[in-house]
Order: sequence, then structure tokens, then C-alpha cells
Amino acid sequence: MEESISQLIEVCENIYDKQLVSGKSGNVSVRLGDYIAITPTLKSLNNLKEEDIVLVDMESNVLTKGNPSSEVNMHLNVYKKRSDVNAIVHTHSPYVTGFAFSSKKLKRLEGFGEIKNPYLPSIEYEKPGTLELANSVSNNIKEEDVLILKKHGVICVGKNLKEAESLAVFIEESAKTQFVSYMLNSVEDIE
Ligand SMILES: [Zn+2]
Repeated sequence: MEESISQLIEVCENIYDKQLVSGKSGNVSVRLGDYIAITPTLKSLNNLKEEDIVLVDMESNVLTKGNPSSEVNMHLNVYKKRSDVNAIVHTHSPYVTGFAFSSKKLKRLEGFGEIKNPYLPSIEYEKPGTLELANSVSNNIKEEDVLILKKHGVICVGKNLKEAESLAVFIEESAKTQFVSYMLNSVEDIE
């Protein structure tokens, strides 16, 4: 169990260092048997300590001191719907979130497994931290491992923490590539 909590902290450091999260935004969790370990609310994901991580059971009962992320129900709902998912990374990473605030769809670029759909799936805006958002996410993530939350951010899931982290990094890179492509295609060539 301790190893997973230390891995959770490591993933938080990594996504902070890669600037996928900033300030106190973003949240990460891992499934540990019949409960989950999740990052705390209102704390930066940079420099978290083991005692900052909150354990919560599947009925949303908090098992340790501290308060879990306000998106704890979003995480729990996904774990309940998806037995194959053992880790979740939610960020407001800037390029993906830029697309989420636009009418543009994000293409699913090559580099992360089979492409089933040409575009990444998205859901309409629901207020962060609400059961409406938690339900919409868990009803729509289905067989996909990524979901764009319109006017909010992105959620990436995986069979372990490394997979969810890698996907979050890949999706942000994909959005950046697509952004650069849009920019270059919108200007004339230099003579
Ligand atoms: Zn969020």
C-alpha cells in the first residue's frame, strides 16, 4: 500500500513539473483494493507528503484525516463503472483546456494505442465538484481512457498510475501539436 501512495505522490510531482497542473488545481487517485487513495482538496500537487493523501472507501466515507479532492465522487464513480481502471489523473492542462473552451474538437493522434475514434470524446459542462459532473463523466468514459470536460479540463484513466500519467502527458502534447498546426495553417508562408 505504501508503495502505491508513494507512487501517487511521484505522479503528482511529475505532472506538476511538466506543468500539466499548477496552483492547487488537478487531482490524482489510485485504487487500493476496496478503497482509494486520493489527493487532498485545496493543496498544490507539488510537494505532497504521505500524510496529505486521503483514503476514501467506495461509499465516499473518508478513512483518514484531511479532506479529499472536491472531485472525489468523479473518481469513485469511474472506479465503480470500470473494473479495469486503477488510477485516475485529472488536470486542467493548458492546451487541452484551451480546446475544451473552444468549439474545436481534439484529434486523437497516433502514439497511444489503437485509434477507435478520430476525435477524443467530450462531455458538456457541469459544475466542478458536483454529482452531475461525477455522473456525466462515469456515464461517458465507457471504453475510452480519456474524456474532455468542456469548459473545464480533462480526465485520463489507466490500469495503473504510470499509464494514466503517460496518457495525460500524451494528450497535452497532442493538443499542443494540434494548436501549432492550426496556427501555422492560419498564416501565410514567408517569402
Ligand atoms: Zn477540475
